[in-house]
Amino acid sequence: MKQSQPPQIKVQTIDVGEVDRFNPRHRIYVRKTDGVWSQLRRRMGWVMMLLFLVMPWRRWDDRQAVLFDLGKRQFHLFELTIWPQDLILVALLFVMAAFGLFFITTFLGRVWCGYMCPQSVWTFIFIWFEEQIEGARNKRIALDKAPWSFNKLWRKSAKHSAWVAVALLTSLTFLSYFNDAPQLYQDFFTGNASFTVYFWGLFFTAATYGNAGWMREIMCLHMCPYARFQSVMFDRDTYIVGYNRERGETRGPRGRKQDPKQLGLGDCIDCNLCVQVCPTGIDIRNGLQYECINCGACIDACDEVMTKMNYSKGLISYTTERNLEGGSSKVVRPKLLGYGGALAVILISFLVLLTQLSPLQLDILRDRNSLFRYNDAEQLENVYTLKLINKTQQPQTLQLTLEGLPGHQWLGEQQIQLAPAELLSLPISIAIAPEQIPKSIVDVRFVVTNLDSGAKISEPSRFFGEK
Ligand code: SF4
Ligand code: SF4
Repeated sequence: MKQSQPPQIKVQTIDVGEVDRFNPRHRIYVRKTDGVWSQLRRRMGWVMMLLFLVMPWRRWDDRQAVLFDLGKRQFHLFELTIWPQDLILVALLFVMAAFGLFFITTFLGRVWCGYMCPQSVWTFIFIWFEEQIEGARNKRIALDKAPWSFNKLWRKSAKHSAWVAVALLTSLTFLSYFNDAPQLYQDFFTGNASFTVYFWGLFFTAATYGNAGWMREIMCLHMCPYARFQSVMFDRDTYIVGYNRERGETRGPRGRKQDPKQLGLGDCIDCNLCVQVCPTGIDIRNGLQYECINCGACIDACDEVMTKMNYSKGLISYTTERNLEGGSSKVVRPKLLGYGGALAVILISFLVLLTQLSPLQLDILRDRNSLFRYNDAEQLENVYTLKLINKTQQPQTLQLTLEGLPGHQWLGEQQIQLAPAELLSLPISIAIAPEQIPKSIVDVRFVVTNLDSGAKISEPSRFFGEK
């Protein structure tokens, strides 16, 4: 049986090998495309940007709906509050995200990079401002080559001002996930924010401006680790952006009315548009390359050319290595099933843990100094500290009781009110006449009853005495 081989991804390509991307003279001037995939990418980008901007302003009861309160070590997600004790949920979320990425990459290649990665989304937003202010690709190239003039000065100033404004907004929005948003903006712009807020605010502004404005594809090509290990997840049935070499070659220019077959040509007219629209500056006709982020811009550009030439679309398309070789691709395959199965198991575990999250947590700490003591009434007494956490956003009225020690006396508060998200340490004692204790170590259970809902939780402990 023929063994399935992963596709060969070139790690040395003409672009990276011959062009120094750190040299400003080798800047990529991305040409605008307007096809199906570009529009999808743009819409997804705007929706994600909008969600990112709006979410910190959404209120939930008297607090922010999504707030990672590092000071109080509580993560609020709408109704849910995650405490340090529940961090397993956060860990599972990260593992789920990793397996989700593996699954999507095996199935659809690097669509995450092309459509949803913040680096790509912000880069496309910055390019959009560049186009609005400096014009289309050819005008931008001409402007950069032209000597300094008033026209060049105001356009460059306007572009960089817009970039800085977007970067600052991005930075403050990001910080709003860790601070109360209205307070943060008020403090930031009135000079009352802390040094930490100013430091991180300016740091993230500079990072966004540098990454999306200047670094762009350099981040993807030289700094992103994901680009390097993606080939492990690819197989011959993974959807990639591919050029149909058999149909396209031999490439060459021709008139619209000329028959390419008579000229000995394939369908590629060698217009180079697929290269001009590529945000990473590669030529997809050279085969699958690790720089390709599966954004589909070259598909749109080429489809437009094919339509103008009256050829059928799809010379460049989302396809698989197997399809390009004339075979038929399988969707269901062991690697995909493996990632999908692991993802399902983690998702189910996450949901089960989520349903088991208690609105209240009780921990019992015994007095470490003595196992027991005799009090003034000659009773045997054990001292405990009950740690209670109200994990909800509503107050809770609680009744505390002890089971397993008939005849005991509860010394301390037995009915308490917990404020939303309150953590309370409550010292109490349990006392009993020596003749009533059945043995020297008694297994007991502390029970907490919510007087409003009737819900109960309990924790085991021990009562020590002498017999
Ligand atoms: S856009 Fe299409 S026709 Fe033009 S060079 Fe690229 S592959 Fe060839
Ligand atoms: S080759 Fe095509 S799909 Fe890949 S990054 Fe460039 S434009 Fe996007």
